[in-house]
Amino acid sequence: VVSTADAVVAIEDQEPYASIVAAAREVAEAVEPDAERVDELASTDPGVRAALAASGLCGLVVPAELGGRFERIDALAVVLVREVLMATSAHLDTLFAMQGIGSFALATAGPDDLRRAWLPRIASLDALAALALTEPEAGSDLKALTTSVRVDGGDLVVDGAKSFISNAGDADLYTVLAREGDGYSLVAVPAEASGVRVVPTPTLIAPHVLGDVELDQVRVPLDHRIGAPGRGFGPVLATLATFRVSVAGASVGLASRALAEAVRHCRSRSQFGRPLAEIGPVAQLLGRSRVDVEMARRLTYHAAQKATIDPRGNLHLSSMAKVGATEAAARVVDASVQVMGRWGLIRGSAVERLYRAARPMRIYEGATEVLLDQIASHLVRTTG
Ligand SMILES: Cc1cc2nc3c(=O)[nH]c(=O)nc-3n(C[C@H](O)[C@H](O)[C@H](O)COP(=O)(O)OP(=O)(O)OC[C@H]3O[C@@H](n4cnc5c(N)ncnc54)[C@H](O)[C@@H]3O)c2cc1C
Repeated sequence: VVSTADAVVAIEDQEPYASIVAAAREVAEAVEPDAERVDELASTDPGVRAALAASGLCGLVVPAELGGRFERIDALAVVLVREVLMATSAHLDTLFAMQGIGSFALATAGPDDLRRAWLPRIASLDALAALALTEPEAGSDLKALTTSVRVDGGDLVVDGAKSFISNAGDADLYTVLAREGDGYSLVAVPAEASGVRVVPTPTLIAPHVLGDVELDQVRVPLDHRIGAPGRGFGPVLATLATFRVSVAGASVGLASRALAEAVRHCRSRSQFGRPLAEIGPVAQLLGRSRVDVEMARRLTYHAAQKATIDPRGNLHLSSMAKVGATEAAARVVDASVQVMGRWGLIRGSAVERLYRAARPMRIYEGATEVLLDQIASHLVRTTG
């Protein structure tokens, strides 16, 4: 928030953010008529992809020197866009977010030729990106992963299996974390490399472009390693430090849309001779939800501003925003369904879609309990 002599202007209402939010609203409005259909898809909708590409918004998740908008990723811009997109369509929001999450390691730690070959295509949505960390036996405990990479002549050979990878099947490039000697390395694996096979995952309660990726002795040139051998966790942590807060942004968008649906319903439906919104316990739920949304929004914007300045140094704040906003979204969307009664339960309605979409957000990019542990250990370490 910036104070001038006679006005207090919220950061999101200033440039460049106001124009970025306007562009996000435009693409969200274009997708809205198809939102119910595309949110059920397990592969990328070409119309949504074209609308997002035309908006130019994916330039926000790639550095300017490689076809993006800002010199370094502006986490608040990403948060504001996800807030708008997620309020309309989870499919649209994920498509936007994954371009950054799947390419950030390459952008910040990859070899120059590879960055130049891929990043401009990712910024324009000509190519889709994915980040492949999780394995059947390695989720929260990522260091238990078994996929391996070794040098063989002039090649890297990647062997293993990744599980629940967003964009799998549609991605052109997978950023893969694999064991190399005593450490872990990141490798850029083009989808067309021989030995890459995608198997669909079971359908989730909130469908998602998702798949398991089998890597059977996949050979890529030596220069496809991202960062130093054995030091792959550095760029992975940098990715999380920049993008974890964006999940909080998406949760704020989800919660405020659910609440808006609930308010409209409770204004127009009467029981016991008055609008639901005027019946005490219903008003309490609406009021409490409003507090949840605004607290989550302000913590998220603050964490995003800090993440832009120093992502690693402020990871505890991004984690707090992610926990706070995803848990708040769960409460708000549940209250919204409750006050809408049977109309909150209609399959495919906006509030029902939001109800399902809220659930996975407390699990991916750091489950709530895992993040609370990390937040507590930071608190204990830094308390004087
Ligand atoms: C929609 C969706 C998209 C995804 N996309 C990707 C992707 O693009 N790339 C990718 O690599 N992965 C992706 N994942 C996988 C995701 O990262 C994992 O689901 C996540 O890391 C949690 O791992 P897990 O599901 O194996 O749960 P587990 O690790 O088995 O944990 C289960 C639960 O146990 C608790 N728990 C576990 N460990 C601890 C601990 N140390 N302290 C406290 N509590 C703990 C938590 O409550 C946790 O929810 C995606 C998942 C989903 C649902």
